[in-house]
Amino acid sequence: MTNPKYKKKLDDLLALCQKTLPRLDENLIRRAFDFGFNAHRHDIRASGEPFFDHPFAVAKIVAKEIPLDDVSVAAALLHDVAEDTEYTVADIREEFGGTVADIVDGATKISDIFKSHDVTQAESYRKMLLSMVNDIRVMLVKFADRLHNMRTLEYLPVEKQRRLAKETLDIYAPFAHRFGLANIKWELEDLSFKHLHREAYDQIARDLKSRRREREHYIRKFSQPIEKRLKDEGFKFEISGRPKHIYSIYNKMMKRNKPLEEVYDLFAVRIILDTADPNDCFAVYGTVADIYIPNPERFKNYISVPKKNGYQSIHTTVVGPEGKMVEVQIRTLKMHEVAEKGVAAHWMYKEHPGNVDPEIANWVSWVREIFENAAEGQVPTQQLMESFKLNLYQDEIYVFTPKGDLRILPSGSTPIDFAYEIHSKVGDHCIAAKVNGRIVPLDTRLKSGDQVEILTSKNQTPNPDWEQSVVTHKAKAHIRRWIKDEQRKAMDEGKETWERRLKRAKVAINDDDLLRFVREKKMENTSAFYLGIQEGKIDPDEVIALYQDEQKHPQPTGVEEARIDGLFNRFITSARGGSGGIVLDGTRDNFMHNYAKCCQPIPGDEVVGFVTTGEGIKIHRKSCHNIRSMITAHSNRIVDVQWPGDNGVLFVAGVRVSGDDRPSMLNDLTHAISTYKNTNIRSVNIETADGLFQGAFILNVENIDHLQRIMEKLKKVPGVRTTERFEE
Ligand code: MN
Repeated sequence: MTNPKYKKKLDDLLALCQKTLPRLDENLIRRAFDFGFNAHRHDIRASGEPFFDHPFAVAKIVAKEIPLDDVSVAAALLHDVAEDTEYTVADIREEFGGTVADIVDGATKISDIFKSHDVTQAESYRKMLLSMVNDIRVMLVKFADRLHNMRTLEYLPVEKQRRLAKETLDIYAPFAHRFGLANIKWELEDLSFKHLHREAYDQIARDLKSRRREREHYIRKFSQPIEKRLKDEGFKFEISGRPKHIYSIYNKMMKRNKPLEEVYDLFAVRIILDTADPNDCFAVYGTVADIYIPNPERFKNYISVPKKNGYQSIHTTVVGPEGKMVEVQIRTLKMHEVAEKGVAAHWMYKEHPGNVDPEIANWVSWVREIFENAAEGQVPTQQLMESFKLNLYQDEIYVFTPKGDLRILPSGSTPIDFAYEIHSKVGDHCIAAKVNGRIVPLDTRLKSGDQVEILTSKNQTPNPDWEQSVVTHKAKAHIRRWIKDEQRKAMDEGKETWERRLKRAKVAINDDDLLRFVREKKMENTSAFYLGIQEGKIDPDEVIALYQDEQKHPQPTGVEEARIDGLFNRFITSARGGSGGIVLDGTRDNFMHNYAKCCQPIPGDEVVGFVTTGEGIKIHRKSCHNIRSMITAHSNRIVDVQWPGDNGVLFVAGVRVSGDDRPSMLNDLTHAISTYKNTNIRSVNIETADGLFQGAFILNVENIDHLQRIMEKLKKVPGVRTTERFEE
């Protein structure tokens, strides 16, 4: 190296590395420096400076702000070589070996993908992210690279500034957060914010500056009594006002819709203890709480339960002088290192160099999980990005297994999320959940401290509705995949059933006719139709009959919807049959009649008949809104009809019951029914989902009163939430 200016730079970098890195191969840094300098010697940055100033600055950030090791510093010096010069990754591999080359390669690929302006390929994006987490040093070099680019953004055209700023805010800052790099995250956010919302940024920065003296004065006043007491108690510590970051102030203002002066916790103080004993933090908290009244609702103990990114600290908000709220953070030096440098601090604290630190291994597998789950299947890029952001920024809750093991979940998680977190099989077969010993609906939002027990059943399978309530990607991905697989299977089976029935009925319905028919029935496509058959919602024979009917008497479209609900149809048919028909004017002749589809009358309902032209007498409920208008308009066509119930014939009635799913629920229900007047149960249909059950009972009853009594008995069965007449 002959250039004296660059010789000085190299010496500075080496001196810095000496200070920050646990082990240092000086020769590696020197060689990387020379190689990079030489490779970029003809290139110029947008600022007009020699290009190599950029990798050099990135290397310094790596060495100073996220110090990992000499390999990362060397990779930082070389990170743009493969992208911008005649040298390739292969050249670097030959010169520096596989590790350095892989990091440079990873960093280059990230740039390549972003160069296409937007990430159009979810799949390649996913691959890239996975390669990044294979060696976290790729990420760290990339963070440093982006940080330096953001610091020197003003030299780029405005449009490019905005694009990079947005990308930084969307992707890099959340990632930095996940890696626990608090300082880098804040700086990335503030720099992005500055370029995206210049006016708001300047305004807040100005306001903060104008209040600075006042703020510092207040912080001193607040800190003095604490300082004195802690000294007396023999603590070694540092207490300082904590700068609030412009972007977080802005977010707070937006969220609370308040001007700056009212965003109350602008006062923030941090106490860092020079101690190895975490318990000292609690002792110091005691002292602070003795001086200033704490707000118990804002006490957070991240020491006993660290955040998933390793963050530890005590947070409390106390009432300071003049009644102002002051947020106080208390942590040890080591916790502080981790809070600011995250994964890098872990790297440095690792006790057995050479071994894979289990903490880091955990970290990597956890980040990997986010990506793998978020990118399950072919999701549109937009959705993928949303998922990442969601996962990266989400607050966390801490819940426990029945054995007391801790699980960290995003806030808003439900027992189903928890179940999938335990294992995908537990999720798939989850039938009910107990939270703190009590059965809860499966869409209950869990809270920190909840103890969650999942009850499973071999026969239970994921409910498509779950997808709406879960928040973790693991759960979402598994549910989606299950639905897809199941639906495909069910559709195939439904199609087979349909074709078999067609054959048996000796009817041919071509695909076009079927599609038209399906559309008329407000189904999206034939797949939905086949699915409906398999799920028992559509009775193929009924459809065939309707089709044949339609062929004989073509109907104008838009006429009454035929009800295609197998269970309901079976029920009313049997109910009406069981009642022995309809009595007209006191006689039970075999007169032509049918039942109105608008109100679906069943035995026991008060009914009237309406004389139609061509379809005989149509039986409506007396309460049917259609018949009411006809009673006035066509009173001469209304006839008096009854169910033949007054001569000892039993009515058939249906009751729907819903409530908590629990063992022997069905037994208790049937017991409640059958012990009253020996009531005969004709059929039972029970479905369970989300920890709840839905039951439909079809019973023989003497009259409405009999039915009412049974419903009252059912209501008293523990766990029953609703009972109702079985009708549409
Ligand atoms: Mn770069």
